[in-house]
Amino acid sequence: MAPDSLQKLRAAVRDVPDFPKTGIIFKDITPILANGTLFRASIDAFLEQCRGKAIDKIVGIDARGFLFGSAVAYELGIGFVPLRKKGRLPYKTESAKYSLEYGEAEMELHIDAIEAGEKIVLIDDLLATGGTSASAATLIKKVGGILLEAQFLIELEFLHGREKLAPTPVVSFLKY
Ligand code: AMP
Repeated sequence: MAPDSLQKLRAAVRDVPDFPKTGIIFKDITPILANGTLFRASIDAFLEQCRGKAIDKIVGIDARGFLFGSAVAYELGIGFVPLRKKGRLPYKTESAKYSLEYGEAEMELHIDAIEAGEKIVLIDDLLATGGTSASAATLIKKVGGILLEAQFLIELEFLHGREKLAPTPVVSFLKY
């Protein structure tokens, strides 16, 4: 990805202090989504990382991971699997509890969404403490998937989330 494209993406991320809780600086990616050139550049960043890898499915994390992950899956012509907050998926699920930078939650995956041995790339907008994506990784492996890599538009490096995902390789494009 060209440095000036990354710079434009970085400039478009809006910091919203004290959302959803006091002390959290929320990285708002909606200005990227709202700009056709920037949205395409953000998807291209993920695609560059995916090309040349034998990926069977993209798993996206509820909800902003859907926005990036589904566009990437569409372009690659492969399946997209949503990892959802508890109670949203209609069929039988596997579930895992996790802690967020700003709270606790539980996530679910349809038991038949991934076939044993399928190679998966996990996508979300942002890696913070890594709790969410570590439990996503657990769920993917529980249903038989092979997690090749986890990819994020933004990484809050000072929270060391990638350590929670080890040994899964982690890629991010905008580091803070
Ligand atoms: P974590 O489990 O701490 O890595 O949190 C990652 C998840 O929470 C992702 O789905 C993010 O969208 C969201 N998230 C956590 N912290 C922030 C933040 N500072 N700004 C925007 N989203 C965040």
